[in-house]
Amino acid sequence: MVSERAGNSNTGAARADALRMRLAASGPVNLVRAPGRVNLIGEYTDFNMGFVLPAAIDREIWIASEPWDRAEVELTSVELGETRSFSLEDLAPKARQDTTWIDYVAGTAWAMREAGLPLRGFRGVLDSTIPLGSGLSSSAALELATSLAIAAPGADRPPAATMAAITQRGENLYVGVNCGIMDQFASAAGRKDSALLIDCRSNDVTVTPIPKDLLIVVCDTSSPRRLGSEYNTRRQECELGARLIAEKEPGVKSLRDVDSAMLERNLDRLPEKVAHRCMHIVHENERVLETVTALREGDLEALGRLFAASHDSLRDLLEVSCPELDVMVEIAATVPGVVASRMTGGGFGGCTVSLVTHGAEEALRDKVMRDYADRTGLTPKVYAVETVDGAGKIELP
Ligand code: ADP
Ligand code: MG
Repeated sequence: MVSERAGNSNTGAARADALRMRLAASGPVNLVRAPGRVNLIGEYTDFNMGFVLPAAIDREIWIASEPWDRAEVELTSVELGETRSFSLEDLAPKARQDTTWIDYVAGTAWAMREAGLPLRGFRGVLDSTIPLGSGLSSSAALELATSLAIAAPGADRPPAATMAAITQRGENLYVGVNCGIMDQFASAAGRKDSALLIDCRSNDVTVTPIPKDLLIVVCDTSSPRRLGSEYNTRRQECELGARLIAEKEPGVKSLRDVDSAMLERNLDRLPEKVAHRCMHIVHENERVLETVTALREGDLEALGRLFAASHDSLRDLLEVSCPELDVMVEIAATVPGVVASRMTGGGFGGCTVSLVTHGAEEALRDKVMRDYADRTGLTPKVYAVETVDGAGKIELP
């Protein structure tokens, strides 16, 4: 299966050379990378202060840059064929209707400055192997790559969890996207051959190795995400659920503080939809922890059951799936060697994630390319991905 491997030094060197050529720098070039991510399980739990289990993947944004004396950033996106710039002197979040990609870059600069981190202007070029807007977190990769390119030389870099929180703040307040912390965390703190169990209340991370006999395959439905206002509505419903439960259960600040028994005794006090949203979150948190155990024990049967239960819950209780995602998961379930499969990310389009035994990826790919296209009229994309380390400088020979 074709997949670009950023970790492969030949491919990496060619990619770096191409970026350097485009930049046509007169002096030393600063080369940085930040990965996208796929979430194995734990959907919509991050903003409920719960658990998520993403892995950083070998789909990455790279930035080649050269510093200059101006308090200004000028950046070219190879994918978009566009150069944009902004000044570091008058950064301020403002309600903007006309958000563009450079706002993710400027928002990172703004949030870093707010956090007291010294910046420097640069001229740069970025390229990406993360498909835009398909749920593999190109926006967080853009932010984390920016955070490395724009940091003043010699300045101490805060730990990954702090960088995640800073860049998330930029996306929330400057760009105006109300995302949780998972995407930035995965891009900042990813670990090769592993997923990250993130406790979104304490920001504690537990590196969770993925069994060597399993591969991660991402299937893109090619159905544009129609997330619209649904994400914010789900957030509000979850927050309402937590508030209503807290009226009877002291100490509940978010759905993270609610366990199955507590939910059960409060269910009939919640409006039906809110009850469904809460059931998803409470049980999804449990499924994340059970998935970590199943990965540790190599319990493939449990992985299959947990991914299926997560998908069903996202479809029926949280109501964020769509026919294309359901078809993709149905097809994967018929392929021998596919251990587990579910929608991943915000839903309403985007991708599924599957765990497959080595050798089964081709069968999955063939089946999806044929059956998914037949059933939906859409042309899917299938990527076998490798897990990688989080964002950092690129040191090539
Ligand atoms: P996701 O993060 O799931 O890929 P988002 O909608 O959160 O989707 O972020 C996508 C946005 O990130 C794009 O609309 C664009 O503004 C920015 N972006 C991502 N990749 C690039 C790129 N290669 N060049 C410029 N901007 C990019
Ligand atoms: Mg995003």
